[in-house]
Amino acid sequence: MAAADNFPSYASVVVIGGGVMGCSTLYHLARFGITDAILLERNQLTSGTTWHSAAQVRALRSTQNMTNLIRYSISLYSELEAETGQATGWINKGSLSIACNPERLVHIRRQESLAGLFGVDASSISTAEALERWPLMNADDVLGAVWSPDDGRVSPSDLCAALVKGAKSRGASIFEDTPVTGIHTEAGKVRAVETNRGTIQCDAIAICTGLWSRQAAAMAGVDVPVWPCEHFYLLTKPVDGISGNMPTLSDHDSHLYIRDDSGGLLVGCFEPMGKPIDPDGLGEDFAFALLDEDWEHFEPMLENAMHRLPVLETAEIKMLLNGPESFTPDGSFLLGEAAETRGLFLGCGMNSVGVATGGGAGMALARNIVDGQLPFDMHEADPKRYPGCWNNVGHLSARVPEVLGKHYEITFPGRQMSSARDLVRLPLHDAWVEQRAHFGQFYGYERALYFDKTSEPKLTFGKPDWFDQVGTEVRRAHEDAALFDQSTFGKILVTGADAEAFLDRVCANDMRRAPGRAIYTSMLNPRGGIESDLTALRLDATSYRLYVGTTAIKRDLAWLRRHLRNDEKVELVDETRDFAVIGLMGPRTPAIVEAAGAGELNRLGYFRHDEFDIAGVAVRAVRLSFVGEAGWEMTCRAADAEKLYRALAAEGARPAGLLAQTSMRIEKRFLAYGHELDTDVDPLQAGLGFAVAWDSDFIGKQALLAAKDSLPAKQIVTIVFDDSSAQPLGNEPVLLGDRIVGKTTSAAFGYRVGKPVALAFVEADAVNAGAAVEVDIAGEPRRGSVSLRAAFDPAGSRMRPA
Ligand SMILES: Cc1cc2nc3c(=O)[nH]c(=O)nc-3n(C[C@H](O)[C@H](O)[C@H](O)COP(=O)(O)OP(=O)(O)OC[C@H]3O[C@@H](n4cnc5c(N)ncnc54)[C@H](O)[C@@H]3O)c2cc1C
Repeated sequence: MAAADNFPSYASVVVIGGGVMGCSTLYHLARFGITDAILLERNQLTSGTTWHSAAQVRALRSTQNMTNLIRYSISLYSELEAETGQATGWINKGSLSIACNPERLVHIRRQESLAGLFGVDASSISTAEALERWPLMNADDVLGAVWSPDDGRVSPSDLCAALVKGAKSRGASIFEDTPVTGIHTEAGKVRAVETNRGTIQCDAIAICTGLWSRQAAAMAGVDVPVWPCEHFYLLTKPVDGISGNMPTLSDHDSHLYIRDDSGGLLVGCFEPMGKPIDPDGLGEDFAFALLDEDWEHFEPMLENAMHRLPVLETAEIKMLLNGPESFTPDGSFLLGEAAETRGLFLGCGMNSVGVATGGGAGMALARNIVDGQLPFDMHEADPKRYPGCWNNVGHLSARVPEVLGKHYEITFPGRQMSSARDLVRLPLHDAWVEQRAHFGQFYGYERALYFDKTSEPKLTFGKPDWFDQVGTEVRRAHEDAALFDQSTFGKILVTGADAEAFLDRVCANDMRRAPGRAIYTSMLNPRGGIESDLTALRLDATSYRLYVGTTAIKRDLAWLRRHLRNDEKVELVDETRDFAVIGLMGPRTPAIVEAAGAGELNRLGYFRHDEFDIAGVAVRAVRLSFVGEAGWEMTCRAADAEKLYRALAAEGARPAGLLAQTSMRIEKRFLAYGHELDTDVDPLQAGLGFAVAWDSDFIGKQALLAAKDSLPAKQIVTIVFDDSSAQPLGNEPVLLGDRIVGKTTSAAFGYRVGKPVALAFVEADAVNAGAAVEVDIAGEPRRGSVSLRAAFDPAGSRMRPA
């Protein structure tokens, strides 16, 4: 496609990168009325990763909204030809997932249940039925299969051509051979892009530069932890037994995906450990190029493939295609506005689902640019979810090969990455090592999941290896005194003459409380959805300390900064790493603080905080609890944390880990961001109306007022399972009779009630207190009873202020 001569000096939106993400974003911008949007591609359209994609489109993802993005793609890809006259090559032949061991069978059955929940057609079929759909397959070791008829594949180049045609017909322009060489920002906002053909002023930029996105975003001072790996598929010449198009065959136990290609076979792999690539080594002219074949690396996969498809032993090999694809530290992509720079939008790091997701993701990114917010919650793709420590070449190149390998691994509960660990140690790290902690990585931190680890846990969908240790820790907090390390809370100091007015505007609760009060609140978007839930300690007339979720710090700081008016006298300081937080919880804690010389803590009222001296450590303690046992969260300087811990431990308090905390939070029906709460859920649906100050004028109030007088359509309930051997994990369908009426959002064994417990979002008018429901756990209905209250609510440990 030749570049047009009339190179603009202004465009409201500049899309950088002409792969599927850029083309889809441009198309949707034009559809949403941004008809002067332009796309700049340094080589030719699709010349990066998109052109050689296997381009399979499988709808099911781990959340409803991620799945909806792909379902959107599927309808777009099947309809674009009618709109543009350009075929997309959409072929709808379905997909088949096979299981060759019992744990995989549970995994694919869980996926089948999830599909039911998300409205995706998927059903279990027998091995014989699977063989009918893929007669070339050796099914000797196949235990079962799940069939998804709506899946398919597309031609990536044709798809992009159709998107571009649709965009151009609405006024958008495309310039090839036009590298973006610089991004200008001013006062934290994008202003222009620099190219080899001149500078273009703009209001917004979409970075859709695939594996080059880390470098592209760096031009605007933005961290994008994206790094490429080599990705292989084998192509054969035509083989007997392939006629026409066939379903995609997913043999994830063998790390393989398989489909027909021009009468032959295409066999791709996500091998257990990928090969990272330095993107700088590819060169700027890397266009329609491939990487070298690596038969030695592929050989174990070839063996797996020959086992599954004996016909491969005689098939003539066309090539071993090796193309680069970008991956991120957690295996999910980046979609949305960057924290650091306003007007800089990211649609990149697609982790091998760029073609499947591209249609929907481009739509969502365009909506974000046009409306200022994503059309629905996408917190798992939020670019602000990464700490700065991830944007490090050493960490990225160590992590992404494992991420590639995890793509097809069974998602056992408690699964952790083993590469790029030990990035950030918490103040009590050494003390926790002494206590034989098993660590998990969250936001780069090493957090203690449980203690007294005896060996590396074996992961399973059954009773977890750590069941007894977590039980001991819960009992500790319930019967004695436990110490929880909560230092990963983000901590934001808000100071200034206008701090109160500012927070009262951005938070839904009444922030005008007196110094010494703690305030549980949320920050809402204009739809009333919860952007963050947090606890604020009012320190004095002009200062507050906000405690936000571990992964929320970057997002919340960006949100606060964006809502600060130019004339407001407010300063925001990130104090996260300066302070540690130790939760001391349990019935023996009053005696412990007494013995530690801080008996006056016992006179602190609920949701009150003050400064104390414990064993020579200056502590700000607040009387509240996230676990449903009376206690305090104690903040001290990070350097003093170990001294404080040892003083409390000397009086008999013992550590408890994150898994114990989670189990207790679920029993106590405390809600957690990313589980029960997200940007689609408002405080009324979440039962957090008590934390809304109707007499304040806060962001999101209009939306809440509109919803206030009608019963929310969904409500959060507790489900206590009848059978203590049930293993709910969250994200399972809740059934009333045959009908799906909701889904579990968090689940754990509740040690204080002796039964598994789940929190669930259910249809409010269908599910009442006392109702008997079933939860579909990997195809097995497990009975439980519904309550509108906490499964466990010990007297004397009220979380809410009186
Ligand atoms: C072998 C293989 C098989 C795959 N199979 C599947 C599959 O079955 N299903 C699926 O969904 N996904 C699959 N993928 C992944 C999918 O192809 C990618 O996720 C997707 O193509 C990425 O698209 P993109 O637009 O983000 O990046 P790209 O297609 O790489 O586009 C980025 C563009 O940005 C341009 N660019 C970079 N820097 C600049 C600059 N400074 N100025 C201007 N332009 C710039 C580049 O030239 C490039 O054209 C596969 C990938 C590989 C490698």
